Amino acid sequence: MKRYKTKYDVVIIGSGLGGLQCAYILGEAGYSVCVLEKNKQTGGNLQTFVRDKSIFDTGVHYLGGLDEGQNLYQYFKYFGLMDKLKLRKMNSTFDYITFDNDETEYKHSQTYPQFIESLSEQFPKERKNIEKYCEGILNVCKTFPLYNLEDKDPLADGEENFFKYLSIGAKNYIDSITTNERLRSVLAGSNSLYAGIGNKTPLYSHALTINSYIESSYRCVDGGSQICRILTKAIRGFGGEILKYKDVKKLVFENGTLTKAETAEGEQFEAKYFISNIHPHLTLDLLKEQKIRKAYVRRIRSLENSTACFNLHLVFKKDTFPYLNHNYYHHIDNDVWRYVGYTDVWPDAYMISTPASSRSEKYADCMSMMVYMRYDEVEKWSQTFNTVAQEESRGEDYEAFKLEKAEKCIRALEKKFPNIRSCIQSIHTSTPLSFRDYIGTSDGSMYGIIKDFNDPLRSFISPKTKVPNLFLTGQNLNMHGILGVTIGSIMTCAEFINRSDILKKIKQAQ
Ligand SMILES: Cc1cc2nc3c(=O)[nH]c(=O)nc-3n(C[C@H](O)[C@H](O)[C@H](O)COP(=O)(O)OP(=O)(O)OC[C@H]3O[C@@H](n4cnc5c(N)ncnc54)[C@H](O)[C@@H]3O)c2cc1C
Repeated sequence: MKRYKTKYDVVIIGSGLGGLQCAYILGEAGYSVCVLEKNKQTGGNLQTFVRDKSIFDTGVHYLGGLDEGQNLYQYFKYFGLMDKLKLRKMNSTFDYITFDNDETEYKHSQTYPQFIESLSEQFPKERKNIEKYCEGILNVCKTFPLYNLEDKDPLADGEENFFKYLSIGAKNYIDSITTNERLRSVLAGSNSLYAGIGNKTPLYSHALTINSYIESSYRCVDGGSQICRILTKAIRGFGGEILKYKDVKKLVFENGTLTKAETAEGEQFEAKYFISNIHPHLTLDLLKEQKIRKAYVRRIRSLENSTACFNLHLVFKKDTFPYLNHNYYHHIDNDVWRYVGYTDVWPDAYMISTPASSRSEKYADCMSMMVYMRYDEVEKWSQTFNTVAQEESRGEDYEAFKLEKAEKCIRALEKKFPNIRSCIQSIHTSTPLSFRDYIGTSDGSMYGIIKDFNDPLRSFISPKTKVPNLFLTGQNLNMHGILGVTIGSIMTCAEFINRSDILKKIKQAQ
Protein backbone atom coordinates (compact mmCIF):
# COMPACT_ATOMS: atom_id res chain seq x y z
CA MET A 1 0.00 0.00 0.00
CA LYS A 2 1.32 3.41 -0.96
CA ARG A 3 1.81 5.80 1.94
CA TYR A 4 1.65 8.84 -0.32
CA LYS A 5 -0.95 10.52 -2.50
CA THR A 6 -0.61 10.66 -6.27
CA LYS A 7 -2.48 13.96 -6.82
CA TYR A 8 -1.08 17.36 -5.85
CA ASP A 9 -1.26 21.04 -6.65
CA VAL A 10 2.41 21.06 -7.66
CA VAL A 11 4.75 18.23 -8.62
CA ILE A 12 8.46 19.15 -8.61
CA ILE A 13 10.91 17.05 -10.60
CA GLY A 14 14.28 16.86 -8.83
CA SER A 15 15.23 17.56 -5.23
CA GLY A 16 18.20 19.85 -5.86
CA LEU A 17 18.31 23.07 -3.86
CA GLY A 18 16.00 24.84 -6.35
CA GLY A 19 13.38 22.09 -6.19
CA LEU A 20 13.43 22.01 -2.39
CA GLN A 21 13.23 25.78 -2.09
CA CYS A 22 10.22 25.93 -4.44
CA ALA A 23 8.58 23.15 -2.39
CA TYR A 24 9.25 25.18 0.76
CA ILE A 25 7.84 28.48 -0.58
CA LEU A 26 4.77 26.91 -2.16
CA GLY A 27 4.20 24.49 0.72
CA GLU A 28 4.31 27.34 3.18
CA ALA A 29 1.79 29.22 1.03
CA GLY A 30 -0.66 26.32 1.30
CA TYR A 31 -0.06 24.45 -1.98
CA SER A 32 0.12 20.67 -1.74
CA VAL A 33 3.54 19.81 -3.14
CA CYS A 34 5.41 16.65 -4.01
CA VAL A 35 9.09 16.46 -4.93
CA LEU A 36 10.11 13.48 -7.05
CA GLU A 37 13.79 12.53 -6.81
CA LYS A 38 15.42 9.79 -8.88
CA ASN A 39 18.23 9.09 -6.39
CA LYS A 40 18.63 7.33 -3.07
CA GLN A 41 19.85 10.65 -1.60
CA THR A 42 18.04 13.95 -2.04
CA GLY A 43 19.71 17.33 -2.58
CA GLY A 44 21.49 16.96 -5.94
CA ASN A 45 24.71 18.94 -5.55
CA LEU A 46 23.95 19.37 -1.83
CA GLN A 47 24.68 15.67 -1.33
CA THR A 48 27.59 14.60 0.83
CA PHE A 49 29.38 11.27 0.80
CA VAL A 50 31.50 9.52 3.39
CA ARG A 51 34.83 7.79 2.71
CA ASP A 52 36.82 6.30 5.60
CA LYS A 53 34.54 8.19 8.02
CA SER A 54 35.36 11.56 6.40
CA ILE A 55 32.56 13.70 5.00
CA PHE A 56 32.99 15.15 1.50
CA ASP A 57 30.80 17.67 -0.25
CA THR A 58 29.63 17.35 -3.82
CA GLY A 59 28.89 20.98 -4.62
CA VAL A 60 29.04 23.22 -1.53
CA HIS A 61 32.63 24.12 -0.70
CA TYR A 62 31.81 27.53 0.70
CA LEU A 63 29.01 30.04 0.95
CA GLY A 64 29.02 33.83 0.75
CA GLY A 65 26.73 36.57 2.07
CA LEU A 66 25.89 34.85 5.36
CA ASP A 67 26.70 37.63 7.82
CA GLU A 68 23.67 39.20 9.44
CA GLY A 69 22.06 41.73 7.09
CA GLN A 70 23.59 40.20 3.95
CA ASN A 71 21.59 38.66 1.11
CA LEU A 72 21.97 34.90 1.63
CA TYR A 73 21.64 35.37 5.40
CA GLN A 74 18.18 36.89 4.96
CA TYR A 75 17.10 34.33 2.35
CA PHE A 76 18.31 31.48 4.58
CA LYS A 77 16.60 33.07 7.57
CA TYR A 78 13.31 32.82 5.67
CA PHE A 79 14.00 29.17 4.77
CA GLY A 80 14.52 28.40 8.49
CA LEU A 81 18.17 27.56 7.88
CA MET A 82 20.10 30.28 9.67
CA ASP A 83 19.46 29.11 13.24
CA LYS A 84 20.05 25.47 12.45
CA LEU A 85 23.02 25.35 10.09
CA LYS A 86 26.41 24.44 11.55
CA LEU A 87 28.74 26.99 9.96
CA ARG A 88 32.37 28.02 10.31
CA LYS A 89 33.43 31.47 9.24
CA MET A 90 36.51 31.31 7.05
CA ASN A 91 39.69 33.27 7.72
CA SER A 92 39.80 36.93 6.83
CA THR A 93 41.67 35.81 3.68
CA PHE A 94 39.25 33.19 2.38
CA ASP A 95 40.92 32.46 -0.97
CA TYR A 96 44.58 32.43 -1.97
CA ILE A 97 45.43 32.66 -5.66
CA THR A 98 48.78 31.04 -6.44
CA PHE A 99 50.93 30.36 -9.50
CA ASP A 100 53.78 28.08 -10.48
CA ASN A 101 57.22 29.64 -9.86
CA ASP A 102 55.84 32.40 -7.63
CA GLU A 103 56.14 32.14 -3.86
CA THR A 104 53.53 34.81 -3.19
CA GLU A 105 50.08 33.68 -2.13
CA TYR A 106 47.79 36.44 -3.43
CA LYS A 107 44.95 37.33 -1.12
CA HIS A 108 41.19 37.60 -1.56
CA SER A 109 39.99 38.89 1.80
CA GLN A 110 36.59 39.38 3.37
CA THR A 111 35.13 42.93 3.47
CA TYR A 112 35.98 45.48 0.83
CA PRO A 113 38.37 47.57 2.97
CA GLN A 114 40.36 44.43 3.80
CA PHE A 115 40.21 43.14 0.21
CA ILE A 116 41.65 46.46 -1.01
CA GLU A 117 44.20 46.65 1.79
CA SER A 118 45.62 43.14 1.45
CA LEU A 119 45.88 43.26 -2.35
CA SER A 120 47.36 46.76 -2.27
CA GLU A 121 50.08 45.46 0.06
CA GLN A 122 50.90 42.85 -2.56
CA PHE A 123 50.56 45.30 -5.49
CA PRO A 124 51.61 48.66 -3.95
CA LYS A 125 51.37 50.60 -7.21
CA GLU A 126 47.90 49.31 -7.97
CA ARG A 127 45.81 50.57 -5.03
CA LYS A 128 43.77 53.01 -7.16
CA ASN A 129 43.04 50.29 -9.72
CA ILE A 130 42.03 47.80 -7.03
CA GLU A 131 39.67 50.42 -5.60
CA LYS A 132 38.24 51.06 -9.07
CA TYR A 133 37.73 47.31 -9.56
CA CYS A 134 35.79 47.04 -6.29
CA GLU A 135 33.66 50.05 -7.14
CA GLY A 136 32.77 48.46 -10.49
CA ILE A 137 31.83 45.14 -8.84
CA LEU A 138 29.57 46.92 -6.35
CA ASN A 139 27.89 48.91 -9.15
CA VAL A 140 27.07 45.74 -11.06
CA CYS A 141 25.63 44.10 -7.93
CA LYS A 142 23.32 47.08 -7.35
CA THR A 143 21.69 46.46 -10.75
CA PHE A 144 20.19 43.08 -9.77
CA PRO A 145 17.18 43.71 -7.51
CA LEU A 146 16.65 40.18 -6.14
CA TYR A 147 20.35 39.99 -5.28
CA ASN A 148 19.58 42.89 -2.95
CA LEU A 149 16.15 41.58 -1.88
CA GLU A 150 14.53 44.49 -3.67
CA ASP A 151 11.06 44.26 -5.10
CA LYS A 152 11.91 46.19 -8.20
CA ASP A 153 11.89 45.64 -11.92
CA PRO A 154 15.54 45.23 -13.07
CA LEU A 155 14.71 47.68 -15.84
CA ALA A 156 13.46 50.34 -13.39
CA ASP A 157 16.66 52.35 -13.61
CA GLY A 158 16.52 52.22 -17.37
CA GLU A 159 16.90 49.37 -19.79
CA GLU A 160 20.17 50.82 -20.98
CA ASN A 161 21.84 50.55 -17.60
CA PHE A 162 20.76 46.93 -17.08
CA PHE A 163 21.67 45.70 -20.56
CA LYS A 164 24.98 47.54 -20.37
CA TYR A 165 26.07 45.24 -17.57
CA LEU A 166 24.75 42.09 -19.24
CA SER A 167 26.87 42.83 -22.30
CA ILE A 168 30.23 43.41 -20.61
CA GLY A 169 32.69 40.54 -20.43
CA ALA A 170 34.33 39.73 -17.07
CA LYS A 171 37.77 39.38 -18.68
CA ASN A 172 37.38 42.61 -20.66
CA TYR A 173 36.36 44.46 -17.52
CA ILE A 174 39.29 43.15 -15.48
CA ASP A 175 41.73 43.84 -18.32
CA SER A 176 40.42 47.41 -18.49
CA ILE A 177 41.23 47.94 -14.79
CA THR A 178 44.98 47.36 -14.96
CA THR A 179 47.80 46.49 -17.33
CA ASN A 180 49.51 44.49 -14.57
CA GLU A 181 49.21 40.91 -15.86
CA ARG A 182 49.64 39.29 -12.47
CA LEU A 183 46.99 41.46 -10.85
CA ARG A 184 44.58 40.68 -13.71
CA SER A 185 45.15 36.98 -13.09
CA VAL A 186 44.74 37.38 -9.35
CA LEU A 187 41.45 39.28 -9.68
CA ALA A 188 40.10 36.56 -11.99
CA GLY A 189 41.93 33.73 -10.20
CA SER A 190 38.88 32.07 -8.64
CA ASN A 191 36.97 31.99 -11.92
CA SER A 192 36.38 28.24 -11.71
CA LEU A 193 33.62 29.34 -9.30
CA TYR A 194 31.63 30.12 -12.45
CA ALA A 195 33.69 28.19 -15.03
CA GLY A 196 34.87 31.48 -16.53
CA ILE A 197 35.53 31.66 -20.26
CA GLY A 198 37.48 34.68 -21.49
CA ASN A 199 35.37 35.45 -24.53
CA LYS A 200 31.99 34.49 -23.03
CA THR A 201 31.59 35.00 -19.28
CA PRO A 202 29.62 38.15 -18.46
CA LEU A 203 30.90 40.56 -15.84
CA TYR A 204 27.78 40.01 -13.75
CA SER A 205 28.65 36.29 -13.25
CA HIS A 206 32.01 37.37 -11.85
CA ALA A 207 30.66 40.30 -9.83
CA LEU A 208 27.68 38.59 -8.18
CA THR A 209 29.85 35.62 -7.19
CA ILE A 210 32.96 37.38 -5.95
CA ASN A 211 31.01 40.09 -4.11
CA SER A 212 29.15 37.48 -2.15
CA TYR A 213 32.39 35.93 -0.81
CA ILE A 214 34.04 39.30 -0.19
CA GLU A 215 31.03 40.20 1.95
CA SER A 216 31.56 37.08 4.07
CA SER A 217 32.70 33.50 3.55
CA TYR A 218 31.57 30.43 5.44
CA ARG A 219 31.90 26.66 5.30
CA CYS A 220 29.24 24.20 6.37
CA VAL A 221 30.58 22.08 9.24
CA ASP A 222 30.20 18.35 8.43
CA GLY A 223 28.89 19.05 4.95
CA GLY A 224 26.28 20.97 2.97
CA SER A 225 23.71 18.17 3.05
CA GLN A 226 22.42 19.73 6.28
CA ILE A 227 20.78 22.38 4.05
CA CYS A 228 18.82 19.58 2.40
CA ARG A 229 17.92 17.92 5.72
CA ILE A 230 16.60 21.13 7.28
CA LEU A 231 14.55 22.05 4.19
CA THR A 232 13.15 18.50 3.94
CA LYS A 233 11.90 18.58 7.52
CA ALA A 234 10.23 21.95 6.99
CA ILE A 235 8.59 20.88 3.70
CA ARG A 236 7.18 17.77 5.38
CA GLY A 237 5.98 20.03 8.21
CA PHE A 238 3.92 21.96 5.64
CA GLY A 239 2.40 18.65 4.52
CA GLY A 240 4.63 18.28 1.44
CA GLU A 241 6.06 14.99 0.21
CA ILE A 242 9.61 14.23 -0.92
CA LEU A 243 9.80 10.85 -2.61
CA LYS A 244 13.06 9.08 -3.49
CA TYR A 245 13.68 6.54 -6.28
CA LYS A 246 11.17 8.36 -8.52
CA ASP A 247 12.98 8.78 -11.82
CA VAL A 248 10.65 10.89 -13.96
CA LYS A 249 10.81 9.72 -17.55
CA LYS A 250 7.80 11.37 -19.14
CA LEU A 251 5.37 14.26 -18.81
CA VAL A 252 1.91 13.07 -19.77
CA PHE A 253 -0.56 15.25 -21.69
CA GLU A 254 -4.33 14.73 -21.83
CA ASN A 255 -6.34 16.73 -24.38
CA GLY A 256 -3.31 18.97 -24.89
CA THR A 257 -2.87 19.72 -21.17
CA LEU A 258 0.03 18.53 -19.05
CA THR A 259 -1.55 16.47 -16.27
CA LYS A 260 0.94 13.90 -14.96
CA ALA A 261 4.58 13.05 -14.39
CA GLU A 262 5.39 9.41 -15.04
CA THR A 263 8.34 7.57 -13.50
CA ALA A 264 10.55 4.82 -14.91
CA GLU A 265 8.38 2.33 -13.04
CA GLY A 266 5.23 3.67 -14.67
CA GLU A 267 3.89 5.39 -11.56
CA GLN A 268 1.95 8.55 -12.37
CA PHE A 269 1.77 11.71 -10.24
CA GLU A 270 -1.03 14.09 -11.14
CA ALA A 271 -0.86 17.85 -10.57
CA LYS A 272 -2.18 21.20 -11.69
CA TYR A 273 1.35 22.57 -12.05
CA PHE A 274 4.81 21.10 -12.61
CA ILE A 275 8.21 22.55 -11.80
CA SER A 276 11.29 21.01 -13.34
CA ASN A 277 14.50 21.30 -11.29
CA ILE A 278 16.44 19.40 -13.93
CA HIS A 279 18.39 20.66 -16.92
CA PRO A 280 16.17 22.35 -19.57
CA HIS A 281 17.45 19.93 -22.26
CA LEU A 282 16.32 16.99 -20.14
CA THR A 283 13.04 18.73 -19.38
CA LEU A 284 12.41 18.94 -23.13
CA ASP A 285 13.23 15.22 -23.39
CA LEU A 286 10.43 14.49 -20.88
CA LEU A 287 7.92 16.14 -23.22
CA LYS A 288 8.49 13.29 -25.70
CA GLU A 289 6.47 13.85 -28.87
CA GLN A 290 4.37 16.68 -27.42
CA LYS A 291 4.48 19.61 -29.85
CA ILE A 292 5.79 22.91 -28.53
CA ARG A 293 7.10 25.99 -30.30
CA LYS A 294 9.99 24.93 -32.52
CA ALA A 295 11.88 28.19 -32.09
CA TYR A 296 11.84 27.70 -28.28
CA VAL A 297 13.06 24.10 -28.55
CA ARG A 298 15.78 25.13 -31.01
CA ARG A 299 17.00 27.94 -28.75
CA ILE A 300 17.09 25.79 -25.61
CA ARG A 301 18.72 22.86 -27.41
CA SER A 302 21.40 25.12 -28.91
CA LEU A 303 22.62 26.32 -25.50
CA GLU A 304 26.00 24.92 -24.56
CA ASN A 305 26.91 23.55 -21.14
CA SER A 306 29.77 24.61 -18.90
CA THR A 307 32.68 22.23 -18.46
CA ALA A 308 32.70 19.14 -16.28
CA CYS A 309 35.34 18.37 -13.64
CA PHE A 310 37.49 15.71 -12.06
CA ASN A 311 37.66 15.65 -8.27
CA LEU A 312 40.37 14.15 -6.13
CA HIS A 313 39.21 13.38 -2.60
CA LEU A 314 41.96 12.61 -0.09
CA VAL A 315 41.32 11.19 3.37
CA PHE A 316 44.17 12.11 5.73
CA LYS A 317 45.69 10.02 8.51
CA LYS A 318 44.48 11.36 11.85
CA ASP A 319 46.07 14.66 12.93
CA THR A 320 48.65 14.83 10.15
CA PHE A 321 47.49 17.57 7.77
CA PRO A 322 46.48 21.02 9.07
CA TYR A 323 42.93 22.24 8.56
CA LEU A 324 43.08 25.19 6.15
CA ASN A 325 40.34 27.68 6.86
CA HIS A 326 40.72 29.06 3.34
CA ASN A 327 40.84 27.73 -0.22
CA TYR A 328 43.57 27.77 -2.83
CA TYR A 329 43.07 28.47 -6.53
CA HIS A 330 46.26 27.54 -8.33
CA HIS A 331 47.25 28.24 -11.96
CA ILE A 332 50.37 27.25 -13.85
CA ASP A 333 50.67 30.77 -15.31
CA ASN A 334 48.81 34.04 -15.88
CA ASP A 335 46.43 32.59 -18.42
CA VAL A 336 43.64 31.95 -15.91
CA TRP A 337 40.94 32.19 -18.59
CA ARG A 338 42.23 29.34 -20.71
CA TYR A 339 39.19 27.30 -19.60
CA VAL A 340 39.73 23.66 -20.46
CA GLY A 341 41.63 21.54 -22.88
CA TYR A 342 43.93 24.11 -24.47
CA THR A 343 47.14 22.89 -22.94
CA ASP A 344 49.05 19.62 -22.67
CA VAL A 345 49.67 20.19 -18.98
CA TRP A 346 47.08 18.65 -16.68
CA PRO A 347 46.15 19.86 -14.15
CA ASP A 348 46.89 23.37 -15.42
CA ALA A 349 44.69 24.88 -12.72
CA TYR A 350 42.95 23.55 -9.62
CA MET A 351 40.96 24.54 -6.57
CA ILE A 352 41.54 22.91 -3.18
CA SER A 353 39.49 23.00 -0.04
CA THR A 354 39.67 21.18 3.30
CA PRO A 355 36.09 20.56 4.47
CA ALA A 356 35.21 21.83 7.96
CA SER A 357 34.69 18.95 10.38
CA SER A 358 33.27 19.09 13.91
CA ARG A 359 36.05 16.70 14.95
CA SER A 360 38.85 19.26 14.79
CA GLU A 361 39.57 22.86 13.89
CA LYS A 362 43.30 22.18 13.93
CA TYR A 363 43.61 19.19 11.62
CA ALA A 364 41.83 18.36 8.37
CA ASP A 365 40.01 15.04 7.98
CA CYS A 366 40.27 15.34 4.25
CA MET A 367 40.80 17.53 1.18
CA SER A 368 38.97 17.98 -2.13
CA MET A 369 40.73 19.10 -5.27
CA MET A 370 38.71 20.19 -8.29
CA VAL A 371 40.16 20.26 -11.80
CA TYR A 372 38.32 20.93 -15.07
CA MET A 373 37.88 17.85 -17.23
CA ARG A 374 36.20 17.59 -20.61
CA TYR A 375 33.41 15.02 -20.89
CA ASP A 376 35.00 13.52 -24.01
CA GLU A 377 37.86 12.24 -21.83
CA VAL A 378 35.46 9.78 -20.21
CA GLU A 379 33.06 9.32 -23.09
CA LYS A 380 34.29 5.83 -23.91
CA TRP A 381 32.80 4.63 -20.61
CA SER A 382 29.54 6.52 -21.13
CA GLN A 383 27.54 3.31 -21.58
CA THR A 384 28.13 2.44 -17.91
CA PHE A 385 26.05 3.76 -15.01
CA ASN A 386 27.35 3.74 -11.46
CA THR A 387 25.81 5.09 -8.26
CA VAL A 388 25.60 3.66 -4.76
CA ALA A 389 22.04 2.51 -5.44
CA GLN A 390 22.78 1.10 -8.88
CA GLU A 391 26.35 -0.19 -8.92
CA GLU A 392 28.02 -1.13 -12.17
CA SER A 393 31.75 -1.47 -12.75
CA ARG A 394 33.02 0.86 -15.48
CA GLY A 395 35.95 -1.51 -16.02
CA GLU A 396 39.62 -1.80 -15.15
CA ASP A 397 40.74 0.70 -17.78
CA TYR A 398 38.49 3.34 -16.17
CA GLU A 399 40.02 2.59 -12.76
CA ALA A 400 43.50 2.94 -14.32
CA PHE A 401 42.47 6.23 -15.94
CA LYS A 402 41.30 7.61 -12.58
CA LEU A 403 44.45 6.41 -10.84
CA GLU A 404 46.66 8.09 -13.41
CA LYS A 405 44.74 11.38 -13.04
CA ALA A 406 44.85 11.12 -9.24
CA GLU A 407 48.61 10.64 -9.35
CA LYS A 408 49.02 13.74 -11.54
CA CYS A 409 46.93 15.74 -9.08
CA ILE A 410 48.94 14.53 -6.08
CA ARG A 411 52.20 15.45 -7.85
CA ALA A 412 50.81 18.94 -8.44
CA LEU A 413 49.81 19.17 -4.77
CA GLU A 414 53.28 18.08 -3.64
CA LYS A 415 54.67 21.28 -5.14
CA LYS A 416 52.57 23.23 -2.65
CA PHE A 417 52.61 20.76 0.27
CA PRO A 418 55.82 18.68 -0.02
CA ASN A 419 54.77 16.23 2.74
CA ILE A 420 51.19 15.69 1.66
CA ARG A 421 51.72 12.15 0.33
CA SER A 422 52.79 10.89 3.74
CA CYS A 423 49.53 12.22 5.25
CA ILE A 424 47.22 10.37 2.86
CA GLN A 425 45.22 7.46 4.23
CA SER A 426 43.09 6.83 1.15
CA ILE A 427 42.46 8.27 -2.31
CA HIS A 428 39.05 8.67 -3.95
CA THR A 429 37.99 10.33 -7.17
CA SER A 430 34.96 11.42 -9.13
CA THR A 431 34.77 12.14 -12.84
CA PRO A 432 32.27 13.82 -15.16
CA LEU A 433 30.50 10.44 -15.29
CA SER A 434 29.95 10.47 -11.52
CA PHE A 435 28.27 13.88 -11.83
CA ARG A 436 26.26 12.69 -14.82
CA ASP A 437 24.95 9.65 -12.93
CA TYR A 438 24.32 11.30 -9.57
CA ILE A 439 22.95 14.65 -10.73
CA GLY A 440 21.30 13.49 -13.94
CA THR A 441 22.95 15.87 -16.41
CA SER A 442 23.86 14.57 -19.87
CA ASP A 443 27.58 15.45 -19.70
CA GLY A 444 28.46 16.01 -16.04
CA SER A 445 28.48 19.78 -16.57
CA MET A 446 29.31 21.58 -13.33
CA TYR A 447 27.10 24.64 -13.56
CA GLY A 448 24.75 23.97 -16.47
CA ILE A 449 24.19 26.38 -19.33
CA ILE A 450 26.97 28.81 -20.22
CA LYS A 451 26.11 32.50 -19.94
CA ASP A 452 27.43 34.59 -22.83
CA PHE A 453 27.85 38.36 -22.75
CA ASN A 454 27.95 38.48 -26.59
CA ASP A 455 24.30 37.46 -26.74
CA PRO A 456 23.04 37.77 -23.16
CA LEU A 457 19.34 37.24 -23.72
CA ARG A 458 19.85 33.98 -25.60
CA SER A 459 21.19 32.19 -22.52
CA PHE A 460 18.62 33.76 -20.18
CA ILE A 461 16.15 31.06 -19.21
CA SER A 462 12.74 32.15 -18.02
CA PRO A 463 10.93 30.12 -15.35
CA LYS A 464 8.01 29.99 -17.80
CA THR A 465 8.09 27.42 -20.60
CA LYS A 466 5.93 27.08 -23.70
CA VAL A 467 3.78 24.60 -21.74
CA PRO A 468 1.49 26.86 -19.66
CA ASN A 469 1.59 24.79 -16.43
CA LEU A 470 5.26 23.72 -16.63
CA PHE A 471 7.92 25.89 -14.98
CA LEU A 472 11.67 25.67 -14.55
CA THR A 473 13.92 26.26 -11.56
CA GLY A 474 17.52 25.48 -10.50
CA GLN A 475 20.97 26.52 -11.61
CA ASN A 476 20.19 26.93 -15.30
CA LEU A 477 17.60 29.60 -14.67
CA ASN A 478 19.29 32.63 -13.26
CA MET A 479 22.70 31.83 -11.83
CA HIS A 480 24.23 28.67 -10.46
CA GLY A 481 25.54 28.39 -6.90
CA ILE A 482 23.64 28.36 -3.64
CA LEU A 483 22.77 32.05 -3.81
CA GLY A 484 22.00 32.00 -7.56
CA VAL A 485 19.67 29.00 -7.21
CA THR A 486 17.99 30.57 -4.17
CA ILE A 487 17.19 33.71 -6.17
CA GLY A 488 16.03 31.50 -9.05
CA SER A 489 13.55 29.73 -6.75
CA ILE A 490 12.02 33.10 -5.86
CA MET A 491 11.68 33.88 -9.58
CA THR A 492 9.94 30.54 -10.18
CA CYS A 493 7.58 30.90 -7.24
CA ALA A 494 6.72 34.45 -8.31
CA GLU A 495 4.81 32.72 -11.14
CA PHE A 496 2.49 31.32 -8.43
CA ILE A 497 2.52 33.90 -5.64
CA ASN A 498 2.86 37.67 -5.82
CA ARG A 499 6.60 38.42 -5.77
CA SER A 500 6.11 41.34 -3.37
CA ASP A 501 4.42 39.04 -0.87
CA ILE A 502 7.28 36.51 -1.02
CA LEU A 503 9.87 39.24 -0.61
CA LYS A 504 7.97 40.81 2.26
CA LYS A 505 8.01 37.48 4.10
CA ILE A 506 11.71 37.03 3.38
CA LYS A 507 12.60 40.49 4.61
CA GLN A 508 10.49 40.07 7.74
CA ALA A 509 11.91 36.64 8.60
CA GLN A 510 13.56 36.70 12.02
C1 LIG B 1 32.05 20.58 -8.04
C2 LIG B 1 31.08 21.66 -7.68
C3 LIG B 1 31.40 22.54 -6.66
C4 LIG B 1 30.50 23.56 -6.30
N1 LIG B 1 30.83 24.40 -5.27
C5 LIG B 1 29.95 25.36 -4.89
C6 LIG B 1 30.24 26.20 -3.79
O1 LIG B 1 31.28 26.07 -3.15
N2 LIG B 1 29.33 27.17 -3.46
C7 LIG B 1 28.16 27.35 -4.15
O2 LIG B 1 27.37 28.26 -3.82
N3 LIG B 1 27.85 26.54 -5.20
C8 LIG B 1 28.70 25.56 -5.58
N4 LIG B 1 28.40 24.72 -6.62
C9 LIG B 1 27.13 24.95 -7.37
C10 LIG B 1 25.87 24.48 -6.63
O3 LIG B 1 26.12 23.31 -5.90
C11 LIG B 1 24.76 24.22 -7.66
O4 LIG B 1 24.62 25.33 -8.51
C12 LIG B 1 23.38 23.93 -7.04
O5 LIG B 1 23.45 23.06 -5.94
C13 LIG B 1 22.45 23.36 -8.10
O6 LIG B 1 21.14 23.21 -7.60
P1 LIG B 1 19.92 22.82 -8.54
O7 LIG B 1 18.67 23.28 -7.87
O8 LIG B 1 20.13 23.31 -9.93
O9 LIG B 1 19.83 21.24 -8.53
P2 LIG B 1 20.89 20.00 -8.82
O10 LIG B 1 21.88 20.06 -7.75
O11 LIG B 1 21.30 20.09 -10.22
O12 LIG B 1 19.92 18.80 -8.58
C14 LIG B 1 19.01 18.29 -9.51
C15 LIG B 1 18.31 17.09 -8.89
O13 LIG B 1 17.39 16.54 -9.85
C16 LIG B 1 17.46 15.11 -9.78
N5 LIG B 1 16.99 14.57 -11.07
C17 LIG B 1 17.62 14.67 -12.28
N6 LIG B 1 16.86 14.07 -13.22
C18 LIG B 1 15.74 13.60 -12.60
C19 LIG B 1 14.58 12.90 -13.06
N7 LIG B 1 14.42 12.56 -14.34
N8 LIG B 1 13.62 12.55 -12.14
C20 LIG B 1 13.77 12.89 -10.82
N9 LIG B 1 14.85 13.54 -10.35
C21 LIG B 1 15.82 13.91 -11.23
C22 LIG B 1 18.94 14.84 -9.52
O14 LIG B 1 19.16 13.54 -9.04
C23 LIG B 1 19.25 15.94 -8.51
O15 LIG B 1 18.97 15.51 -7.19
C24 LIG B 1 29.26 23.69 -6.99
C25 LIG B 1 28.93 22.79 -8.01
C26 LIG B 1 29.82 21.79 -8.36
C27 LIG B 1 29.45 20.84 -9.44
